Amino acid sequence: MTSYRELLNQVKGEIDEITTADLQARLVADDAPLVLDVREVDEWQEGHVPGALHVPRGNLEARIEALLPDHGAEIAVICAGGSRSAFATKTLNELGYTSVVNVAGGFSDWKRNGYEYTTPRVLTPAQRSRYARHLLIPEVGEKGQQKLLESRVLLIGAGGLGSPASLYLAAAGVGTIGIVDGDVVDDSNLQRQIVHSTDGLGQPKVESAKRALQALNPDVEVITYQERIDSENIERILADGWDVIVDGTDNFPTRYLLNDASVWHSIPIVHGSIYRFEGQLTVFHHGDGPCYRCLYPSPPPPELAPSCAEGGVLGVLPGIVGSLQASVALKLLLGIGESLAGRLLLFDALYTTFDEVTIKRNPDCPVCGLHPTITEYVDYVEFCTPGPPAQPKQATQPSQLREIAHS
Ligand SMILES: [Zn+2]
Repeated sequence: MTSYRELLNQVKGEIDEITTADLQARLVADDAPLVLDVREVDEWQEGHVPGALHVPRGNLEARIEALLPDHGAEIAVICAGGSRSAFATKTLNELGYTSVVNVAGGFSDWKRNGYEYTTPRVLTPAQRSRYARHLLIPEVGEKGQQKLLESRVLLIGAGGLGSPASLYLAAAGVGTIGIVDGDVVDDSNLQRQIVHSTDGLGQPKVESAKRALQALNPDVEVITYQERIDSENIERILADGWDVIVDGTDNFPTRYLLNDASVWHSIPIVHGSIYRFEGQLTVFHHGDGPCYRCLYPSPPPPELAPSCAEGGVLGVLPGIVGSLQASVALKLLLGIGESLAGRLLLFDALYTTFDEVTIKRNPDCPVCGLHPTITEYVDYVEFCTPGPPAQPKQATQPSQLREIAHS
């Protein structure tokens, strides 16, 4: 009968070993091996060598060939003290891996020597339960959920589009949501602005929305800006750092400001607009498709401006377009799926149809073109015509008029 100690010594005699100092030297040099950590999940979560691959010892034989098909890859196997990894090294040799070394002393020695290690942020049991349906999707998973929790989305407007967008982003666990809106909740809002409710009448929309989002998901930090965005405050608001902007505004001065900011700061904008039964959606992202000014270099002439009377909108329409905006924003944050940049999606609620129009970058665009002429924010004065709005000519491409949203 062989004792554990004898067996370990026997295995150690059959494998190659390096010290943690050797490993450190190789990681900073060009010939870094793949570090394979065979400890248990709880040990891994307390810290590990940056860039290491984690396969617990018990799963090694079953999983390694799928994860690492190259049998000639240079591998340094590590555990807590160098024993489990010694057996793992022998197993890998037996599986045909030809260039495997055991890290003597293991992660304890690595830490003792003061070498760099990372501690992964992990979901709490409550978060694992809350986001269970995300964890089941390979494209999201635990890593994606962590990414969402660390993400920051700025919503412009807590109205028709901002309501569903903010609710779904909060529900999905986007960790920080900023909301810019200077208005208070009015009873005519409640037909569609579902983040607000009757008991919030007369309150600032940002406060009403914050209350609803935090009631939905306490993981979410909501930062409020009770103001209308303009050239004076836009840089201050953007300085708080945002990964994606969701545009739910209802006026073109804001839309131009946001567009120019998005080009200069390279922040993608998920643009949505609605009018009566029609909705539109696209992404403006500098370097990946056109910007808003590529389509409309400057605001509409007065005769094409919308009527001063507020436009009507089917109550559920902003729910559809705003939810699509949330979906597009989540994809941008996760880096998955097909981009909506350069594609304008048109929804018609009367016919229940979606159409798509390709939109192209304009090399003469005054902001993102080859020779930009606009290099500072412009505060356009919002105007409207006193009578009914001029009807657009044939809408071969979305007319300026339909582009003006009434959220
Ligand atoms: Zn442009």
